[in-house]
Amino acid sequence: MNQARPRRIAVLGAGITGLAAAYELRRRGGGRQPQPDIVLFEADTRVGGKVRSEKHDGVLYEAGAESFGAAQPQAMELVRELGLGHDVLHSDPRRRLFLVLAGGRLTPLPEGVGQVVPARWLSFLRSGLLTWKGRLRFLGEPFLPAEEGEADESLSAFFGRRLGPEAVARIVEPLLAGACLGDPCRLSVRSLFPHLADMERRGGLLRGCWKSPMRRLAAEADPALAVTLRNGLSTLAEALAKRLPSGCLRLGAPVVRLARRNGGWEVRTPHSNEPFDVVVCALPAPALAQVLEPVDPEVSGVLREIPYSAAAVVTLAYERKALSHPLDAAGLLVPRSEGRRLAGAVFASSRFPGRAPADLAVLRGWVGGEAASGDDAAAARVVRAELREILGLGEAHPRWTRVARWPAAHPQYTIGHALRLRRLESCLQSHPGLILAGESYRGAGLSDCIRSGRLAAAKALTPAGGRAAAGVA
Ligand SMILES: Cc1cc2nc3c(=O)[nH]c(=O)nc-3n(C[C@H](O)[C@H](O)[C@H](O)COP(=O)(O)OP(=O)(O)OC[C@H]3O[C@@H](n4cnc5c(N)ncnc54)[C@H](O)[C@@H]3O)c2cc1C
Repeated sequence: MNQARPRRIAVLGAGITGLAAAYELRRRGGGRQPQPDIVLFEADTRVGGKVRSEKHDGVLYEAGAESFGAAQPQAMELVRELGLGHDVLHSDPRRRLFLVLAGGRLTPLPEGVGQVVPARWLSFLRSGLLTWKGRLRFLGEPFLPAEEGEADESLSAFFGRRLGPEAVARIVEPLLAGACLGDPCRLSVRSLFPHLADMERRGGLLRGCWKSPMRRLAAEADPALAVTLRNGLSTLAEALAKRLPSGCLRLGAPVVRLARRNGGWEVRTPHSNEPFDVVVCALPAPALAQVLEPVDPEVSGVLREIPYSAAAVVTLAYERKALSHPLDAAGLLVPRSEGRRLAGAVFASSRFPGRAPADLAVLRGWVGGEAASGDDAAAARVVRAELREILGLGEAHPRWTRVARWPAAHPQYTIGHALRLRRLESCLQSHPGLILAGESYRGAGLSDCIRSGRLAAAKALTPAGGRAAAGVA
């Protein structure tokens, strides 16, 4: 790589990760002479990826990501940096709790359970979610010995061992259904909650939560409080895109492959073929696997081992007066043990008031698996029918319905994920200038993606030992 000429840096994918990376490259590179030349390639004709706000019939709704935690610093910091602080909309504090379907009945998820391990476990014990037997099992947690060794373990095994099977079925599972439609028997505790093994060794989860910053956070900024932007989360993606240098963003430009060229990289789309010194790859793992196949089949193979779940998000608008249910919560979560296809729903017009006309109640339900893979009408039928039964909506018919399907919705950090990341890091050492970022690796969700994108940019601008940096950000 010729360090004397302006650095050319390609970013692949204009989802929130790629946008954050390109924005950070611009921000950090601004003072350098010559300034790096940045090109952001996006297959779609719009920016944002899984961030997609839409409007219909006077209702603003989110087809993809809906909100982020008020306590997530990376997202909040970026929002303020972009001058969007005055657009921040907090979820209604009176309706911040989710309901969990347990034995066919809806029970409020107790306060402070936003992080899977209850940060306020007294309120959790007081809730009616666990039977007496389940509560006693839960309270015995501090007296259990810690498991020795470094072996990866599933969430079911870990939480079942520490807190008991009821806590897995009634807390861990519904929260996962809300967040990533994951199977707790396959998901890795080490990759999703790396701090928990440490807590276990230091005297148990309950003691750890009592002392940990999580508890402080729970007291300061309620982790159950969610935040969005007044005019939709797409405003964040658009604000990032606006900060990019002119000509940087190439929409409708799907990258079909990468190739090595003169110590750097060549990025190919159906219409172009350009050289770059560094490439920040912010594509979901399955898409990146295809692009990298000719460069390194081993890297592609590891990327293909990161599975994704599918999801369909169904938005329903009802005449408010036609619904008997008060919708006085953030939404509902459905554990798989309930044998339903609905994974969860947000009572959108209750959670973020002001985004729909007063005469409408907007619900947003989601399904995974087969129900998400069929056609739009089938997904809508499932969500409508299940919400009707669970909430007792009777004969009420929605005024309109919108369906968004996401075939590769949520990456699943299954057992062995940490090992896969180590293999990727090791392979990438022979590909200087190739940096991977985004939800497939070290945290899914907007805040993690922003952190990863910005970190990738910092890496891209910092050659190590005279070589372009490489690795997973
Ligand atoms: C239904 C749903 C609800 C969610 N809700 C929340 C939530 O409420 N809060 C939260 O924090 N997170 C949520 N998430 C997760 C969050 O949306 C994602 O983690 C995040 O948006 C991922 O961003 P990304 O940029 O890494 O990937 P993506 O958003 O997937 O972006 C990747 C981009 O790459 C482009 N691309 C793909 N292939 C190519 C190619 N060959 N060449 C060029 N471009 C290509 C795509 O078009 C896309 O724009 C949700 C996700 C889904 C699916």
